[in-house]
Amino acid sequence: MPTSVRRTKIVATLGPAWAEPHQMMALLDAGVNVVRINASHATSELRARWVEELQGLMKDRPLSGAILVDLQGPRIRVGTLPEPLHLEAGQRVVFAPEGEARAGEIPTTYEALAADMRLGARILLNDGLLALEATGVRNQRVEAVVHYGGELRSHKGMNLPGLEVSAPALTPKDLEDVRQAVELGVDYIALSFVRRREDMEELRALVPRSTKLIAKIEKDTALRNLCEILDASDAIMVARGDLGVELPFEEVPLMQKQIIREAGLHGKPVITATQMLESMIHAPRPTRAEASDVANAILDGTDAVMLSAETAVGRYPLEAVRAMDRIAREMEMQRQGRGVTLDAALGRRSSEGVLLPNHQPGQGGPVRTEDAIAVAVCAAAEMLSSPVILCFTSSGFTARKVATCRPGVPIFACTPEPETFRQLSLVWGVTSALIEHSADYDRMLAVARRQILERGLAREGERLVVTAGVPFDMSGTTNLLRIEAV
Ligand code: PEP
Repeated sequence: MPTSVRRTKIVATLGPAWAEPHQMMALLDAGVNVVRINASHATSELRARWVEELQGLMKDRPLSGAILVDLQGPRIRVGTLPEPLHLEAGQRVVFAPEGEARAGEIPTTYEALAADMRLGARILLNDGLLALEATGVRNQRVEAVVHYGGELRSHKGMNLPGLEVSAPALTPKDLEDVRQAVELGVDYIALSFVRRREDMEELRALVPRSTKLIAKIEKDTALRNLCEILDASDAIMVARGDLGVELPFEEVPLMQKQIIREAGLHGKPVITATQMLESMIHAPRPTRAEASDVANAILDGTDAVMLSAETAVGRYPLEAVRAMDRIAREMEMQRQGRGVTLDAALGRRSSEGVLLPNHQPGQGGPVRTEDAIAVAVCAAAEMLSSPVILCFTSSGFTARKVATCRPGVPIFACTPEPETFRQLSLVWGVTSALIEHSADYDRMLAVARRQILERGLAREGERLVVTAGVPFDMSGTTNLLRIEAV
């Protein structure tokens, strides 16, 4: 059994401290599958340079890599303060829209704060480190009392858990950032603070079909609408940074499991993000708790684990990637051959555990051909001890379907589409290869066979389970299962 292919994918965030071409290359060589560029922090000039450099580097590598631009979305922030404030417990403060704030008031970038506010609502500042409660609303201003104080600086994030925020899904900055990301030809665009499916549909209308969209799940409203958001997205992210501020932190671990499970039932890849190896910003080794956190996300069934500040501004970016790689490989070695998860493949929902608010036990409907094929492919690979599953795919649909079943062997996805080749970098268990298009199955098989041997994925004579959608260039038609000899 080849053990060189890591199934769990690694997403790493690029930052100014580690973004020279040779450093980007080192990240890719250490095992990064998807590079994330955070539009909240990087300027548009920097983003353009990074994307172009990355595309140049990735083009020359046999292993696929993808680029993800993460939009800021309707993040609410504290405005510009003349100087840092020190808030004390019990102190009374007033928030006002930036531009209208008078001396002594706290400016906010959110114009409609007073209109959306509810008495008794919590106002959390600076990642939830400062906690206040709304006590009054007057003249476009919100009065609040401080429960947990501390230092407050300009532009710190502001979370309003439980409030229906009326801000548009895409700010003028996001619209500009989307336009640039599309022009640059990035593979994935992630939207922050998604609340409902319409937010993703709004974004979808702005991008070509080939651009894949990721919904960041970080608001309690998004949890209520999770199934619809999943239907409208190509992948999701458990954005635990803001989720852990919007929800009581003790609810995050179970929510993470539920979101990952629901994504699996919808056949959509999922990234688990934020603070996974946080201490590695300053230290060359992770804490035991962090190693367990990465391992547990993998056990939960995440497709990818993500590094944020660890690679963007940390002192040990390569060590952080290598640590994730080691943890993932160890978990995968111990859990080899987890087998076919029929329930996930068939969209069945078990009733164990705490259910998401929109969870409908017993949903199902008739089994679709592609699901039956995906399950059969994984079962056949297991029964025949095949070392690899071969997928021919144009949009990536067939490979994603098979990946949802979490087979015990690598999925080798051959595609003639450069976008698909790159985008499959995010999908659990998939190694992709770019091959020339042919309508002839035997020709495609001969090319794939050669690559499988060259990459050491199987030995001559071993049995190979092959799946595809025929005709080849029609997406969403997974209907073929064949057994071939390598
Ligand atoms: C998060 O909140 O966990 C997240 C990934 O978003 P950002 O890094 O943009 O805050």
